[in-house]
Amino acid sequence: MTDSMAPAIVSSAPQLLREVNDRIRDVERARAIAEYDLVCECGDETCTSPMRMTAAQYDEVRGEPGTYAVLPGHESAEDDVVVRHGDGYVVVRPRAGAMLSLNGG
Ligand SMILES: [Zn+2]
Repeated sequence: MTDSMAPAIVSSAPQLLREVNDRIRDVERARAIAEYDLVCECGDETCTSPMRMTAAQYDEVRGEPGTYAVLPGHESAEDDVVVRHGDGYVVVRPRAGAMLSLNGG
């Protein structure tokens, strides 16, 4: 397990935040709690607002390739397509061309 995050190689805020959330999920899962305090995955690289989701909710988002969970109001009308609204979060998918594609799931 490496724990190095080289700041110079950060490619995009959502991708970095996804990694942060993955790590939170791993830690929280070990503690067997039902809800995670994740960070908003919106395109604003200065946004680190907490976003509370259940394990099932987050896993559901992760199961949909190319989607991100953001706080309500953090979706971008220009860059994001809203997939659905959840309880305390919004699932978005970046519009084609708005962002580089991430691995394709
Ligand atoms: Zn945000």
